[in-house]
Amino acid sequence: MRQTITVFKGDGIGPEITDAVIRVMDAAGAELDYEIYNVGEAEYEAHGELIPKAAFESMERNKVLLKSPITTPVGKGFRSLNVFLRKKYDLYANIRPARSNHAVKTPFQDVDIVIFRENTEDLYVGVEEKIDENTVHATKLITRRASERIIRDAFEYARAHGRKKVTCVHKANILKISDGLFRDIFYEIREAYPEIAADDKIVDNVCMQMVMNPQQFDVMVMPNLYGDMLSDLASGLIGGLGLLPSSNLGEEFAMFEAVHGSAPDIAGKGIANPTALLWSACMMLEHLGQMECAAKIRRSVDTVLEEGAFNTPDIGGNATTAEYVEEIIKRL
Ligand code: NAD
Repeated sequence: MRQTITVFKGDGIGPEITDAVIRVMDAAGAELDYEIYNVGEAEYEAHGELIPKAAFESMERNKVLLKSPITTPVGKGFRSLNVFLRKKYDLYANIRPARSNHAVKTPFQDVDIVIFRENTEDLYVGVEEKIDENTVHATKLITRRASERIIRDAFEYARAHGRKKVTCVHKANILKISDGLFRDIFYEIREAYPEIAADDKIVDNVCMQMVMNPQQFDVMVMPNLYGDMLSDLASGLIGGLGLLPSSNLGEEFAMFEAVHGSAPDIAGKGIANPTALLWSACMMLEHLGQMECAAKIRRSVDTVLEEGAFNTPDIGGNATTAEYVEEIIKRL
């Protein structure tokens, strides 16, 4: 059955990589129709809004958004468009898979980690107060509702993707009540997933273990702040943010995007690497149940990247976006 999704084209390299990704999805036989909107800086200059009303309405109708990076105009509009979209659509689960690729040389091989970061609470509730000139106080909020849903999602993902283990990351040795609640809920939820191994580790130990022996980790679930830090650490293990896709999931809405920004320095040059957005699109196809199509695209991208002859300059090649995309389509 064909499904309709909303697409935000974004700024800088956004339009180029969006076109590339739609070409690949169509060639792979994705059962998708698109409602495509220009959003971001150019849209703001033209019509005074970063995201036009019709684009929000489309998102609210279709529930699924493929989003390109947006240049946030400094001093105007939203402070952070991503935080705004996460809040507006209660996108509570930030999922960032970090998988090694032989095309990108790093000191770490065979990393294949999926981080589930709770996106709505913890220290990010942003409640701070000044008690006196030299004393401040910040609030860390952990709730059963938010913890249950992110932990359940991590186990559901592990089950759906044949993953072997889920690790809970916390600091419950010190934060006995708040992180202690998160950890307790983790073990309650895991009862429903007996086929999946489960363990928990303290966050400082995890930082060391991820660098010493990253292959031991599979799916990981954690409160917001640890997720922020460890997902960047994981991206460093595989060669940087440029190859990192992400999904932001809520109970009703889902948003898929590359982790990188609009790369204004290379916009319009035809050399942008669309891989992170392509992998985000694969996560979206899987979310929509179009597993075969996603697998086909993943296989083809892996082959082209590993052969290396058509890689873009950011990962050491000299191919254009168009040449890279043609090669992926040929291998589908
Ligand atoms: P950036 O990620 O856009 O670029 C950093 C460097 O990586 C640049 O040299 C760029 O050329 C390169 N790069 C990034 N993506 C690439 C790709 N796909 N292919 C090849 N090279 C790539 O970070 P920045 O320069 O700090 O940010 C630029 C703008 O993007 C800013 O306005 C920022 O606010 C915005 N931004 C948006 C998002 C988003 O919408 N999700 C995320 C981050 C930054």
